[in-house]
Amino acid sequence: MPPTLIDIGTNLTHGSFDRDRAEVIARARAAGVTPMVVTGSDINASHAALALCEEYPGALYCTVGMHPHHAQAFDAGTPAALRELLARPGVLAVGECGLDYFRNFSPADVQRAAFKAQLALACETGRPAFLHQRDAHQDFVAIVRPCRNQLAAGVVHCFAGGETELRDYLELDLHIGITGWICDERRGTHLRELVKRIPADRLMLETDAPYLLPRDIRPRPAHHRNEPMYLAHICETVAACVAKPATQLAAETTANARRFFGLPPG
Ligand SMILES: [Zn+2]
Repeated sequence: MPPTLIDIGTNLTHGSFDRDRAEVIARARAAGVTPMVVTGSDINASHAALALCEEYPGALYCTVGMHPHHAQAFDAGTPAALRELLARPGVLAVGECGLDYFRNFSPADVQRAAFKAQLALACETGRPAFLHQRDAHQDFVAIVRPCRNQLAAGVVHCFAGGETELRDYLELDLHIGITGWICDERRGTHLRELVKRIPADRLMLETDAPYLLPRDIRPRPAHHRNEPMYLAHICETVAACVAKPATQLAAETTANARRFFGLPPG
């Protein structure tokens, strides 16, 4: 039996899974990756994530929120729509939400407003926040800090930043989500050192599938699509970096995810 792992961020509603979603989920579960937390990235995607979770009670959960790329679609009705979704069984957290100045698909001020509103919703409902930050660290911290005391918990998902970013997030008592980025021999080497500084009770693992296929997966899957079953590979890579047995890292990160999302013990 492989150790249980929780994929805290997987985009299972993505169109690339339309042909074989059930097989992808079955493969992940067979690899010990269960439950999985499906990421909601706008209102439609959040509804789709919830509908998928309802087909797999206990195995799939989801977040609901508006990704910074879609911040322009965040309007006066969005908080109520998210509040309604948050009341449904299987919905665990607000997000993903945050700031992304790398692509700037939505203007920065619009992103900040949508982010603040979603953090307020997380505070109001007592739910953890699933956070996205890219090239916007200072503004991100400036928005999270004043509400951190009211926020139950937050995870900076897909952390790929540097020392300063990590220090600031840990100072804010945020959790850190590590993806297969750490397996990338070109872009991920700094993470192999930095991950050692993440306290054992703040680290969680995610695939961000279908994105971020670990570059050292062999054999390479067709179409280079990432799948939640590869979380075991990410766990092994991180375990090697922090010099722990993979089984221990699996147990620690799984316990963290259960606590973070308020999941029942496995
Ligand atoms: Zn993200």
